[in-house]
Amino acid sequence: MVSKFYYEAKKRSSARGPKQLKRQRTAALQDLAEEVARNPSRQRLGVRLSSAALTPVRCQAERVKNSRHSASLNRRLRILEPAVLALVCFLSLAQFATISVGQQTSAPPTRAEILKGALTPERTCYDVTSYNLDLRIDPATKSLKGSNKITFKTVNDFTRMQVDLWSNLPISKIIFDDGKDARFTRELNALFVELPEQARKESVHSVTVFYSGVPVVAKRAPWDGGFTWDHDDEGNPWVVVTCPETGASIWWPNKDHASDEPDNMAISITVPPGLDEISNGRFKSKTVLPDGWVRYEWFVSYPINNYCVTFNIGKYAHFSDEYISADGEKLSMDYYVLPKNLEKAKEQFKQAKTMMAIFEKYFGKYPFYRDGYKLVECPHTGMEHQTCVAYGNHFLGGYRGRGSSAVGLKFDFIIIHESAHEWWGNSVTMRDIADMWIHESFGAYAESLFVEDQYGHDEAIKYINAKKGNVRNGPPNHRGIWPLSKKRPGHV
Ligand SMILES: [Zn+2]
Repeated sequence: MVSKFYYEAKKRSSARGPKQLKRQRTAALQDLAEEVARNPSRQRLGVRLSSAALTPVRCQAERVKNSRHSASLNRRLRILEPAVLALVCFLSLAQFATISVGQQTSAPPTRAEILKGALTPERTCYDVTSYNLDLRIDPATKSLKGSNKITFKTVNDFTRMQVDLWSNLPISKIIFDDGKDARFTRELNALFVELPEQARKESVHSVTVFYSGVPVVAKRAPWDGGFTWDHDDEGNPWVVVTCPETGASIWWPNKDHASDEPDNMAISITVPPGLDEISNGRFKSKTVLPDGWVRYEWFVSYPINNYCVTFNIGKYAHFSDEYISADGEKLSMDYYVLPKNLEKAKEQFKQAKTMMAIFEKYFGKYPFYRDGYKLVECPHTGMEHQTCVAYGNHFLGGYRGRGSSAVGLKFDFIIIHESAHEWWGNSVTMRDIADMWIHESFGAYAESLFVEDQYGHDEAIKYINAKKGNVRNGPPNHRGIWPLSKKRPGHV
């Protein structure tokens, strides 16, 4: 039942620009999702898929053939072995089956769910163009303080808008257009801003939210949301954040709905002396402030989904490499690990370059050349943070040394799977959290392409067959949200 709210009021745009191109790609995938959802066979798993069931995928490839990422995907879909293609649909249909169950059996959505999932007029009235997040994070008090400036284009005239920020984080003030105070009210994890004057259609404005507080601590990162306040073996703070299901409003104010992403984002994180900080995008500057704390500035020059915005605070060793695409473009590859793991990482992370070549071959060029690619060691297993992939696989094969098949132990699952999300999840993003299957099923499919390319077709089939048990047909959690696996790790 919640899903119908998630599906309503989808935005389409014919305008050009990075955000619009991304929306067009994502909209095309959404069409595929809806076509598959209408197919009655989605209700039953384990059925052999007819060629008719595969048609939407092929149509999809045709429809998006002009996009830079889809040209090679389209070629790939045409030459795929039927069994491999069936897996894509199988995984996809599995997720739709869970959504369908939710639609039939769940209770009416709660107010909290509507505030989180619905595209209300207070959300659709504006289109985010940029975020400027500026935070000081203190590991000693496990607290944060700072602001986020939300710059937006107005879709229609309005004076009231919804922004999202969890209720445990107090707001001191909100400033409209860098000048006047704006009044606001809070309801659960939403916040309604009353602008001091009407924002007229097709104009550009900003609101800056100043806030502070003690953010939620993740109980079981990366699957639940929140901060991880950890230490390395030398006692240095090691602090990261994850929020794939809860959403980014668990730690910073934003329009927390997958349908809207900024065109770009500035991230400034200030940390205690002696610590490093790594965020998404390109490193801009490091400034030692008068009180000795250090401010790191990063800039994301592409649209970014809110839950992938991240920071990594710790004492890191850094090394780098360069990848050159088939057409000669250079991509910076930067790696940040705990100093004790430097030599292991230099060996293990060679797989990232192999991954890059294989995925570029099948899916088109890496989507974020301007911003580069990074792997950053983290205390949990991993997360697909855009251009700043969190890595916690202990430099082992498989999933921390485990795997459902022998071939699965031959490569580092986290490097391959989380990086696949750069294409499937970060470049092509769900417009609604109910469709997170787009990220995960195509991420899983990408693994099989990597195996096929590296170890051959037979091994790829064995790999796929060994993963069948991961396809679930259970009810959705959070009523309508596609469930990220909690029982079977490795599928975030
Ligand atoms: Zn994943």
